[in-house]
Amino acid sequence: MRPELSTLIKLQGIDLEIRKLGNDKLELPKRLNAIKELMEEKDAEVAELKDRLADLRTRKTEVEDELELEAERLKKSQQKMSSVKNSREYQALSKEIEDIKKSNKAREDEIIQLDEEIDRLKKEVKEKNKEVDKLKKEAAAEQKNIAKAEKEIDAKIVSLSAEHDEVADKVKPDLMARYKFLSEKREGIALAAVDEGICSACNMNIPPQMYNELLRDEKLLFCPSCQRIIYALKV
Ligand SMILES: [Zn+2]
Repeated sequence: MRPELSTLIKLQGIDLEIRKLGNDKLELPKRLNAIKELMEEKDAEVAELKDRLADLRTRKTEVEDELELEAERLKKSQQKMSSVKNSREYQALSKEIEDIKKSNKAREDEIIQLDEEIDRLKKEVKEKNKEVDKLKKEAAAEQKNIAKAEKEIDAKIVSLSAEHDEVADKVKPDLMARYKFLSEKREGIALAAVDEGICSACNMNIPPQMYNELLRDEKLLFCPSCQRIIYALKV
């Protein structure tokens, strides 16, 4: 194989590696982002639970206030019993007292239920907060991992870039321009091997005459389908 081709193949190998490292770097925050998303979800759930807790506490205060007022009213009604004058009055007052007692019993039951629900939600908030704390720790650890991996990738890219410059210096400017143009247009694959008459990059057939020319390896040839610089695999 002519040196200009083998140099370009080497250059493409280096550039593909640099390109891959760049992509790897972009992938690094993915896990962290997933953790952060989960954290936001849990935070929203905690906020919702706290809203519900606040509502329940407001309701409990309301019922307690009602109960206090009604207990007072009950006491007064019971005191009135001693000065009842006739049975009609007695019956009316008895009914009133029974009604208040019944309502207050319902209020007491509701307070018990509210207390149970408040306890349950408080526990749930505690659990969720624990999960958020755990995620925070995971995120911090992941942040460290990312920083370390980024540093490693950057160091590799620096060393590969130096290698790139060294190899690129050996390529003639017009060929380099062509390589760069193709590399940008074709996701880093500017050169393609041709195996048994087929371009390995676009899988199209190379015309037989051109393939024979390629096997002779006398000049630079391009795939008629994808325009990449081609070289014969078995030379
Ligand atoms: Zn092709």
